[in-house]
Amino acid sequence: MIKILPSKGIKKATGIDFDLLGSILTTMIQAGHRKPIDMTVHMYKSRQAGVSYVETYDSDWFTICLDQTSKQTRKFIFGSILHEIRHCCQLKLWNYWPCTYKFKTYEEYFNSKEERDARKAEKLTRQLIKLYDMHINMKKQYSKVGLTRLG
Ligand SMILES: [Zn+2]
Repeated sequence: MIKILPSKGIKKATGIDFDLLGSILTTMIQAGHRKPIDMTVHMYKSRQAGVSYVETYDSDWFTICLDQTSKQTRKFIFGSILHEIRHCCQLKLWNYWPCTYKFKTYEEYFNSKEERDARKAEKLTRQLIKLYDMHINMKKQYSKVGLTRLG
């Protein structure tokens, strides 16, 4: 299971239900690889302008820092999360975690295997937002039709 633990600041800034997002990502990624995936992901605001990044201490614990200076559209936020979670999957699934400080130029970094791979995950952004919104609406509808109480 992918457990996302957001900081108060990230929760407030994004308004995202991270329990729900974690459960959607778990379902999606586990279905894709047909095996259980377990990780805990802390999420904070990035202190670097224009940069989101992820750090790890072991392969079960990650810290994602989300860029706060780019325009905070839902597409940007959900896309960034997909990108950084994919870096976590690179380590979890393939034990692939190269040193990102090795690059001499931005182009070299941009074209690296890990970045090209992580950007592939961003292609699911629209679908993820749709799915997330459907779950939110279902939750509202559930209590609206009275299913949270008997009779
Ligand atoms: Zn990246």
